[in-house]
Amino acid sequence: MPKEKKKKKKPKKPKIQWKTALQVLEERKNLERLKTGTALDELIGGGIQQTEVVEFYGPYGSGKSQLCMTMTVIVAGQGGEVVYIDTEDTFNPERVKEIAEKRGYDPNEIFKHIHLAEPLTTDELAESIDQIPKNLNPTLIIVDSITSLYREEFIGRNVLSERQGLLRQFIVKLKKYVREKKCYGIVTNQVYDVPDATPFTPLYIRQQAVGGHSLYHLIDNRIFLRKAVHGTRIGRLVDSSRYPEAERPFKITDRGIEPIEEDSEE
Ligand code: ATP
Ligand code: MG
Repeated sequence: MPKEKKKKKKPKKPKIQWKTALQVLEERKNLERLKTGTALDELIGGGIQQTEVVEFYGPYGSGKSQLCMTMTVIVAGQGGEVVYIDTEDTFNPERVKEIAEKRGYDPNEIFKHIHLAEPLTTDELAESIDQIPKNLNPTLIIVDSITSLYREEFIGRNVLSERQGLLRQFIVKLKKYVREKKCYGIVTNQVYDVPDATPFTPLYIRQQAVGGHSLYHLIDNRIFLRKAVHGTRIGRLVDSSRYPEAERPFKITDRGIEPIEEDSEE
């Protein structure tokens, strides 16, 4: 019998870039930081570093979406493009308009720089990264939130590992994009109550980020947000590989997220 001539196509191997630690250090020195303008910046070395994804997680009303919309205005106000992936239908143009106006920007100019996707399924969510227009060079990419669609689609223990696997894949895809585009990444996440907590267990231990420990290794800086007295909020950096665990306050006003003045009566 004549031998089959069909050549099997070899799968394309990923190219690995080797660097010395010194090169990595030098590269990092040149990276810029995006400031929230609040004390949260102090938790992560002065702001979100280019090429980095920071996670803000916490219970409802803790300020995650307010932070996302404020950072959108800050970046768009400086002329940067913002990719905003809204999985919860909570991007609020009226609120963005208010934050923009209070900060002295023309909202119509700001809106031109905001590129919104509203995926309804986890497939659409993954595609929304792949389908960011090639000619768009975003300064900031936001996903509010990374876990809600996975939680909705994969219910029950028997699909937990599949859910975790897909969530990990999505985060890796996002990290790769943020690194390649040298932009800033912000994701939000919800919390669940750990079952064996007591009333004395601190809130940041009682309420864990959805996605569990498998995500701890993927996202370097995770900040737990919670409500505090007189409408203020507290951010706590949890388990960072670079910075010490610490807490800083901020508040939410008509200008979005804001610092708490030292001499404030709050
Ligand atoms: P969820 O998990 O439900 O998405 P979240 O953490 O995203 O919650 P946000 O929507 O960011 O919560 O925060 C909502 C809170 O922001 C409200 O409870 C309200 O206290 C505060 N807030 C919204 N608009 C204003 C405003 N104009 N001035 C002051 N506070 C505001
Ligand atoms: Mg929200």
